Amino acid sequence: MLKIGTVRWRGKCSRHPMFDPFEGGRGAVRGGCPRCLSLVEICETHQKMLALMRTFAPPTDRKRTKPALPDLQIGLFEEVG
Ligand SMILES: [Zn+2]
Repeated sequence: MLKIGTVRWRGKCSRHPMFDPFEGGRGAVRGGCPRCLSLVEICETHQKMLALMRTFAPPTDRKRTKPALPDLQIGLFEEVG
């Protein structure tokens, strides 16, 4: 069995901070910048991984249950003794 947790990741090229691999792709990389090309590769690989996962197990109506957060509001109405 394979388990992959939620991955949140950000990558930005310091020379081309506005570069978005989703929009431009490989063709929008200026001067063959290795950082931007790396972002394109990460983006493409990620897309491919998602496609593979969807092929393996198409998304179903998953229960959209978020982990229960502690109810912080309740403290406002409690008398502090
Ligand atoms: Zn760059």
